[in-house]
Amino acid sequence: MKNILLIVIDTLRPDHLGCYGYDRPTSPHLDTLAASGTRLDALWSVSNFTAPAFTSLFTGLHPHHHGVFNFTAQALSSPLQGALDSSGMRTAGVVTFRFFRNLLKNIWGPIEAVTDTRGFDFSKNLPFDVTTSSLDWLEKHGRDRPFCLFVHYDGPHTPFRLPDEDADVFAAPFAGAADPAVRDLLFPRAEKLDNDRNKTSMYRFMKDVNWSRRRLDEATLRWIVAMYDAAVRYNDRAVGELLAGLDQLGLTDRTIVAVLSDHGEEFLEHGGFAHGGVHLYEEIIRTVGIIRDPGQPARGRAVSVPTSQVDMLAALLKLAGAEGLPGTDLDRLLADPDHRPGPVFCHGKSKIAVRDGDTKLIVPRPNPSLDRVTRLKMWINMALMRKLRPEIFDLAADPRETRNLYGDRALRRRMRDILREHLAAPPPGPLGGENLSAAERARIEQEMRDLGYM
Ligand SMILES: [Zn+2]
Repeated sequence: MKNILLIVIDTLRPDHLGCYGYDRPTSPHLDTLAASGTRLDALWSVSNFTAPAFTSLFTGLHPHHHGVFNFTAQALSSPLQGALDSSGMRTAGVVTFRFFRNLLKNIWGPIEAVTDTRGFDFSKNLPFDVTTSSLDWLEKHGRDRPFCLFVHYDGPHTPFRLPDEDADVFAAPFAGAADPAVRDLLFPRAEKLDNDRNKTSMYRFMKDVNWSRRRLDEATLRWIVAMYDAAVRYNDRAVGELLAGLDQLGLTDRTIVAVLSDHGEEFLEHGGFAHGGVHLYEEIIRTVGIIRDPGQPARGRAVSVPTSQVDMLAALLKLAGAEGLPGTDLDRLLADPDHRPGPVFCHGKSKIAVRDGDTKLIVPRPNPSLDRVTRLKMWINMALMRKLRPEIFDLAADPRETRNLYGDRALRRRMRDILREHLAAPPPGPLGGENLSAAERARIEQEMRDLGYM
């Protein structure tokens, strides 16, 4: 058995990394990793925000089966648990925030959180704290038996958390022209870090932009993107330190390293800002996927066909040598570049997307695991925002998703049939979300608001 180091960087768009073709030098360490492994160029998250995306990653289930659409829910079990147990692997996690403890309680090993945060008052060198804690864990547990360690970095999630000198690398030339109010909201100064009004204002600001009640001017947007890139580079350095530490511990030869993101981020490409809203365009759901397997000669290989994170954990466990796992398109692709994979799916709260080859369908569909009133509100909101129209795009000819082909009846029927079949397929075992007590739910919701996740 090999080990697995599963690194997930929050909110990281692949097209903002050098190894995926970005022109700013945001990712020297991830670029080096990609050059010695496999890069997945069309890897979809299973959802467009954190809670369902991670639950799907760890269970191999789509959200209509695990039903986890917020941080107050949790999956009861994982179909991958049996294979994990019989593999003898030690599972653990080192994460930025403690909400993962609740989210992954029934489906993963012990989770060590590096912050116990209330408000925005946590340190700005959080990624390096994650690295240090992960290396401590590896030093303590990395040699006695095979492990799968999950490491979560906060990445370029807003509010941006990085020291001034690191932010300046890309953002300094743009700061002067950016709206000072927006700068204060998204990159709060130390004296405003624990300010409730600032938090509320940040969410209101994002909502107002998404509802077109507030215009985000070009100069400010350029500063936001530069800040995002600076945060990517800052996190890349922390990941580089972790990989160097893995090497120093002598674990590189026995450890599969996977670097993923949980979802992307919108910069007004389709009128939206941030993530977790209605949209399921590529800037939101296409994720980073870099896998370095010391047992595989594939160096600098790129997989351009669609793959899904729903298959990721099973594929990694299989690469590590675990048995009793379901065969997936992803592990077949890793073994055979000519394999032709099936469609992939992404479940947002209000919409669902399907990709088959280069064709992508997006349709409004408030998730049935949500209560009726919430779903009704979603239909109303989508109507008010004029977001009800189904869409079909040809991602090969139109990667920016600007020409809606839904008028093509044959195409529409083919994609609708694929979606219908996906939704009708039964879950692979007894499942369901668990409801928490009202007090516990309130506590977690407050924490999520504090962190900028709600
Ligand atoms: Zn996230």
